[in-house]
Amino acid sequence: MFKKIFQPGQIGTLEIKNRLIVPPMLTEFAAENGKLTERYIRYYEEKARGGWGLIICEDNVIEPRGAGFKCIPGIWADEMMEEHKELVTRVHAAGAKIAVQVYHAGRESHSSIHGETIVAPSAIQDPVLPETPRELSTPEVEEMVERYAQAARRCKEAGYDAIELHGAHGYLINQFLSPFSNKRTDKYGGNFNNRLRFPLEIIKRAKELLGDNYPIIYRISAEELVEGGLTIEDTKAIAICLEDAGIAAIHASGGVYKSSATLCAPTAVKTAVFSDYAMKIKRVVSIPVITVNKIVYPEIAESLLREGKADFISMGRASICDPHLPNKTKEGRLDEILHCIGCRQGCWNHLLQNKPISCLVNPLTGKENDYVPGKATTLKKVMVIGGGPVGMEAAIVAAQRGHDVTLYDKEDRLGGQWLAAAVPPGKELLNSLTVWQKGALTRAGAKVALNTAVTLDLIQKESPDHIIAATGSTPIVPSIPGVDKPHVYSATGVLKGKLDLAGSIVVIGGGLVGVETADHIAVHNQKAVIVEMLPEIAGDMEGGAQHFVLESLKNNGVEIHVNAKVLEIKDDGVVVESANGIQTIPANQVVLAIGSKPNRTLAEAVQDQYPTDILGDANTVGKALEGMTNAYEAAYRI
Ligand code: SF4
Repeated sequence: MFKKIFQPGQIGTLEIKNRLIVPPMLTEFAAENGKLTERYIRYYEEKARGGWGLIICEDNVIEPRGAGFKCIPGIWADEMMEEHKELVTRVHAAGAKIAVQVYHAGRESHSSIHGETIVAPSAIQDPVLPETPRELSTPEVEEMVERYAQAARRCKEAGYDAIELHGAHGYLINQFLSPFSNKRTDKYGGNFNNRLRFPLEIIKRAKELLGDNYPIIYRISAEELVEGGLTIEDTKAIAICLEDAGIAAIHASGGVYKSSATLCAPTAVKTAVFSDYAMKIKRVVSIPVITVNKIVYPEIAESLLREGKADFISMGRASICDPHLPNKTKEGRLDEILHCIGCRQGCWNHLLQNKPISCLVNPLTGKENDYVPGKATTLKKVMVIGGGPVGMEAAIVAAQRGHDVTLYDKEDRLGGQWLAAAVPPGKELLNSLTVWQKGALTRAGAKVALNTAVTLDLIQKESPDHIIAATGSTPIVPSIPGVDKPHVYSATGVLKGKLDLAGSIVVIGGGLVGVETADHIAVHNQKAVIVEMLPEIAGDMEGGAQHFVLESLKNNGVEIHVNAKVLEIKDDGVVVESANGIQTIPANQVVLAIGSKPNRTLAEAVQDQYPTDILGDANTVGKALEGMTNAYEAAYRI
């Protein structure tokens, strides 16, 4: 089945045991002074143990003012390379090849990160960042070329098998290449050849220091996905020039900060979204081409290789979710692979908040040294109440630690409200977590009691040593006249299929649940109307998901009323007050999506008698990422 994936490959002189690559992804695991930490090294080492052919470490900055984040690894001085050598040694010992990405953020940075004025090819502010950069003078650009080359030399001396020049995502090299950001009229701007001069000079000088046989991979944004930016036609021509300059492989990504909703594709974006770029570049060069972004399943990777769209497959977030994906694939343990759900909560959004990355589905990310596999010293009887993702996670970890675990849920199936969250268009990947957790519960030996509402009597009868309450939340019902009418439903009820959608449906509440429910209604050919009190809808959504759901609402003709207060629900409509006065919006059905409150009455009643952890929405209604992380930690501590 996976004969292409596990075929050895070659990038220049570098032999790689299979076609699976970990692409560079920022972690913020390095120290603020740019030094690599044990956490950083261990994170990459775990991937090497998991069977990846080549690991390309994240953006390593060539000078302090090139840092776009606080805790980013540095390679700007010879004294910084000791930890790099250790990283290389440990990754090699675990059986993988390792490369390093050489990077400078240019204008995609901020003076508060490094205390210096940011620099760029032209004094043009990045559209999504607050500072205008200073234009580099011509001699300064020449110095920058030398800085890149010296950084590359250090990487080779540290033992890395290859370097990757970061020429994508709107960073400095990309800024020079692109008419979107380069408005210079000296030898580094003004026409195609001049814009290309900066990377070509870096490659030429690096090759002088590295020798002709040392592989240099070039990462490129095949399309910048912004008006006036590079297109695939530009990139094909650039790729030909790069091959001519001696580049060993092209790593075909896409997007810049302005188009970041697609750069790190969220759940709603189709699989292998950039693979056509790789294919088009592959048609014009003879060096290997690597494809990347939203490649979740090894079957998709195999298919891309068989079709000849790319020579190697980068699986970034897939490697965060399951560092052992290659080994599990090779051993036929496909059911055990923990798949990325595209939520961006722990990887992308943590970076935006200047926090180290984590992962919703894999709470061990970046904590590989913190949790030692094995049994707890005292084995206990554990009751886990609630079979949503948080309860399941706690039950899995507690059972893996050897405890006698029973997971209870009042419904006839596991998944809780997560099942409803997976229903709106483009959200089906969420179900992969439920499926994995069900399998993991069995493998760990946890017992599951469905159709069982836990009561005080049951707790006393079972007399557990420890309780985990992951009882979720209950929808808030507002005190609006008419709210108890028979045609008024909860959003969860709609998404769980407890309503025959018909006619015009008004959704009260324009947060995440409300907009996704309206989107679901609209794609099922009913008229959907959102009524929201605040000035905007989807304000609580993750940026990427928000971008695509707003687009979908627009395409599906969903009517939106903001700054609108619901006064009454009538049999045939919803009375709303807004700046336009009071109006009645016709409605055959009304859906409530105005939020939830923790459901923890039972846990509060027993917590003085039994050691109890209240987790997930039962503790604080919020993001699943925190709930899953807390579940892992609480269950590990029992
Ligand atoms: Fe994937 Fe979400 Fe984990 Fe990021 S946090 S790697 S998007 S599952």
